[in-house]
Amino acid sequence: MKHVPERTHHAMLDAYTTLRLGGPAGELIEAASAEEIVAALRKVDAAGPAHDDAVTSAFVLAGGSNVVVADSGFPGTVVLVRNRGYSVRREGERAVVRVEAGQPWDDLVAATVAEGLTGLECLSGIPGSAGATPIQNVGAYGQEVAETITAVRVYDRRTGDTVVMSPDECRFGYRASVFKHNDRFVVLSVDFSLAVSTRSMPIRYAELARRLGVAPGDRVESGRVREAVLALRAGKGMVLDAADPDTYSVGSFFTNPVVTADGFAALRDRTGGVEPPAFPAGDGHVKVSAAWLIEHAGFARGYGDPAAGVGISTKHTLALTNRGTGTTSALLALAREIRAGVRDRFGVDLHPEPVLINCSLS
Ligand SMILES: Cc1cc2nc3c(=O)[nH]c(=O)nc-3n(C[C@H](O)[C@H](O)[C@H](O)COP(=O)(O)OP(=O)(O)OC[C@H]3O[C@@H](n4cnc5c(N)ncnc54)[C@H](O)[C@@H]3O)c2cc1C
Repeated sequence: MKHVPERTHHAMLDAYTTLRLGGPAGELIEAASAEEIVAALRKVDAAGPAHDDAVTSAFVLAGGSNVVVADSGFPGTVVLVRNRGYSVRREGERAVVRVEAGQPWDDLVAATVAEGLTGLECLSGIPGSAGATPIQNVGAYGQEVAETITAVRVYDRRTGDTVVMSPDECRFGYRASVFKHNDRFVVLSVDFSLAVSTRSMPIRYAELARRLGVAPGDRVESGRVREAVLALRAGKGMVLDAADPDTYSVGSFFTNPVVTADGFAALRDRTGGVEPPAFPAGDGHVKVSAAWLIEHAGFARGYGDPAAGVGISTKHTLALTNRGTGTTSALLALAREIRAGVRDRFGVDLHPEPVLINCSLS
């Protein structure tokens, strides 16, 4: 019997976001297969095709871990990406893992590590779906998905075709790709090329290497890397935990700002002789730690107005959290305050990492 997607009217989106914030959706469609995702969008788009920078009448939502949805919700159609499953094709020393977009990401990472496949182990514990990982080129602890993605199958809402995009066409960058802030393409499945090995990729991230007791560049058993990453993340409130409001967030609210060499020199002039943590970002640019800027602009962990129900996580300055009784407007007010404080103190602009739905920071 043909599966019929479930449709709900005026469902509250707070139940579908890790911030636990967001008002009602005009219509919510739970799509359990790629065909259902495409059919749902075709129907809505028939009323008027989507294009790059337009607010369209439909958007796709998966794990809800990187969106801030307005208190007023979204008046159009929300298509919930719920197609699941993956296959593994071994080819000598590599394996191609093809995963459906709605597959929970960390389940996939756990399975690849357990199957002796290497390349995703540092991305353990990141919430959300596999299909959303190309959107902002998900990364953590020295790894990002751009290193292992070989193909992304998408539905193009502009042409109505389903096409396979190469990594070049995805235009991956730091927390960026052709897909981010662009509702033209809907990811249906992703191919990853992983090494057949129980040993991890070389450990690049100093904090992770310290935790594992190895030198940067060493390889260790992938299962150990996964455990170490999960423990580090848990200590920062970066693994979802229903009992802990420090995890009612989108992870990092701001990206690490990338500044020119001149911009970095100007920043150093304003730090009173303290060296801000920074990393080379190519082309003479420098990536500066947003957490450091926020802390040194006077916003400590736990900062916030308890009456507003939102605040900085007590474990990590980059996570803005709903303490349980917050609203999206209160969260955005806190984000604006932090952004203005960092700009005043250091002259650096912070940019939000999550996608803002029907609301803005300006
Ligand atoms: C506690 C916590 C820790 C986090 N840690 C990290 C981290 O270490 N590194 C990191 O990079 N991110 C991190 N994140 C952010 C987030 O988990 C990732 O960006 C994740 O990939 C989002 O997946 P999602 O399924 O929840 O996407 P959603 O929040 O549902 O969607 C995010 C955006 O992607 C779009 N989208 C979703 N699925 C599709 C699809 N199939 N096709 C097209 N567009 C789609 C949505 O329309 C929306 O614009 C963290 C979040 C939390 C809450």
